[in-house]
Amino acid sequence: MRLLADQLGRVPVDDGDVTLLDEATQSARIALWHVIARSNGALQRPTEGNECSFFTVITDAEWQRLMESGELPREHAYECGMSADHPGPHVTFIYEAMGTFQGWWLRWRGRERELVIHPYCGEVQRGLDPDGLDDTNCLLFQGHPCPHRF
Ligand SMILES: [Zn+2]
Ligand SMILES: [Zn+2]
Repeated sequence: MRLLADQLGRVPVDDGDVTLLDEATQSARIALWHVIARSNGALQRPTEGNECSFFTVITDAEWQRLMESGELPREHAYECGMSADHPGPHVTFIYEAMGTFQGWWLRWRGRERELVIHPYCGEVQRGLDPDGLDDTNCLLFQGHPCPHRF
């Protein structure tokens, strides 16, 4: 990459080239994320506040399995939804399992990974609206071992 950067620094590039380079760099970064997810699961991002910093990707094999319950776009990255220093494996929400009112979640710890269908937490934070229009649901799964997240 450094060699490529040195070479590119010596030639003129237009906006189209910059877009292509951005896309190529992003593809390389995502490919690297997949390797790390499968090898040690240690992908981390900077966070603010009390969020868990780990994130992961959904592998092709996992996505294949998920597609059996519907067609949805796959995100590049999925963040653990729990608070920093939570006990147990990291857990990320993927999407709602068709017709179940439950979520598809990926649990992972190191290279151990497991796709599960699991109910939502169900805790509701009441808003100011008497009709409940601004109530918010906890974003986590039933029995999560950390504070609620709204
Ligand atoms: Zn986590
Ligand atoms: Zn909760």
